[in-house]
Amino acid sequence: PIATSETFKLPFSLQAKMSRPVQARRLEGVDKNIWVEFVKLAATYSKVNLGQGFPDFPPPDFLKEAFVRALSGENHMLHQYTRAFGHPPLVKILAQFFGKLLGRDLDPMTNVMVTVGAYQALFCCFQAFIEEGDEVIIIEPFFDCYESMTKMAGGTPVFVPLRPKTPKDGKLMSSEDWKLDPAELASKFSERTKAIVLNSPNNPLGKVFSRGELELIADLCVKHDVLCISDEVYEWLVYDGKEHIRIASLPGMWDRTVIIGSAGKTFSATGWKVGWTMGPNRLLQHLRNVHQNSVYHCATIAQEAVAQGFQRELELYGKADSYFIQLPRELQQKRDWLVQSLDAVGMKPIIPEGTYFLVADISKFKSDIPDVPDSDEPYDSRFAKWMVKNKGLAAIPLSAFYSGAHKSIYNHFIRFCFAKEEATLKAANDILQKWKQEKTSP
Ligand code: PMP
Repeated sequence: PIATSETFKLPFSLQAKMSRPVQARRLEGVDKNIWVEFVKLAATYSKVNLGQGFPDFPPPDFLKEAFVRALSGENHMLHQYTRAFGHPPLVKILAQFFGKLLGRDLDPMTNVMVTVGAYQALFCCFQAFIEEGDEVIIIEPFFDCYESMTKMAGGTPVFVPLRPKTPKDGKLMSSEDWKLDPAELASKFSERTKAIVLNSPNNPLGKVFSRGELELIADLCVKHDVLCISDEVYEWLVYDGKEHIRIASLPGMWDRTVIIGSAGKTFSATGWKVGWTMGPNRLLQHLRNVHQNSVYHCATIAQEAVAQGFQRELELYGKADSYFIQLPRELQQKRDWLVQSLDAVGMKPIIPEGTYFLVADISKFKSDIPDVPDSDEPYDSRFAKWMVKNKGLAAIPLSAFYSGAHKSIYNHFIRFCFAKEEATLKAANDILQKWKQEKTSP
């Protein structure tokens, strides 16, 4: 505004108010975040929270003890900065541990980088590789930030859904029944495709991609010279003897894949926010560039403790005492409890092959919460909000894991997290049983 005799009399602080738009264009369309909304709802209303993905049981003692030792031990340098791209003991043990699994020598300094959780690892990938005009293939349903991170980097997400096939014999569906259509997947690749995001085991379905499915993806990546951002944060959480296959180990894939992992999921300590990336130096050098110009560094003590956790796991690898053997065994039991609870009340579970999560079909509960035709909000979202407010049970609508165009198709499922104490799962069972009785009693 032009200064007048009036404005001259205003205090300086009022005159200085900004009127120009401040938001950078890259933030357009990424302002809504499902977690902010549903975490708040759960905090306000839930008696039993099976929404956001975190365990309510403690991390293993050996990990907590390692943290305490790092915190209160003689080496006070652990309270100071460490190497920007990863505390040396952590990158060394990660290189040794995963080098064995991948069957290749990993250089801790160039093939591994530590990040603030897997979330920052993802952010580094999108910022480092994607630019205006690039397309990124995202398999639906997907961990929601893949879409917003693609857009923030200036890229265009291209979605390809897993197609469910109902088993004929009346059995419960499994996450295995959700499959890619090979022709549809192939049709999404073009000269504009820069990367595909793979998340196996997959959040939210719990799908563990088979070797055949990974080979299909790998062949297309090689054919079209496309990068693979492979989010493997649930790599240890696979059930029923299933195998987690690392796509980077398939022919032609190491050179074009960034592997992403998380100590949060690996050691049941999501709040520590220690994650990592692994891959060829040719790719990781660009991730280091983003990291050094943004976060620069992750908490030293947490990195030291995670390093010790991996040291222990290296010594126990494949043995009964290994946490990577024990945790999935415990979680499989928890999965089965929740499957039974949901099945007993008619909220049909899709049995997950991996992860913390299971998705359930709420179609039979539709009479409780009437549909609102022409509502902008998907049905499952309104259902999940109603459920937490009226029943005290928090879950996440599956439509949150779909692109705008597909939300209305996949709008009758909700996702539960079963990485919870037995008592929590029992309390969830009580709520469901009571709800069913209320439904059936006249
Ligand atoms: N990827 C997937 C598929 C996830 O589910 C999560 C956490 N919910 C992350 C990445 C982020 O992991 P972190 O907590 O280590 O940042």
